[in-house]
Amino acid sequence: MNNSMNTRKNAARLERRQRKLDAGLVDAQYPEVRGIVISMIYNQRGIQKSLPRVINFFPGSYALFRVDCLNKECIDGGFDLTQVITGMIRNRKEAAKGDLSCEGDGPSANHSTIAYEVAIQYT
Ligand SMILES: [Zn+2]
Repeated sequence: MNNSMNTRKNAARLERRQRKLDAGLVDAQYPEVRGIVISMIYNQRGIQKSLPRVINFFPGSYALFRVDCLNKECIDGGFDLTQVITGMIRNRKEAAKGDLSCEGDGPSANHSTIAYEVAIQYT
């Protein structure tokens, strides 16, 4: 890895931390939400094995509904579920599913995708 790649990675990491702080906590942003569960199957191009992941959000979690890409060559990649989740909360919807591609600057377009299911519990 060369220096400019390191610099880009560090900048991406700092930006991620800032985004987290900006997002605030779930109970401050969405007081009606008791919990959010994102279940996903992560698929990386060229790798046969799919990887299941489950991410839980609680009232005290940061309201940052973004999942990192697991591809090591991917810079600032990830899957942003913010629109999906805020849309669900607005309509008090309890379940949704879909697919997303990584937004990052990876080794190739569509280098990774997720198939997700979101479940939200309300107070
Ligand atoms: Zn990626």
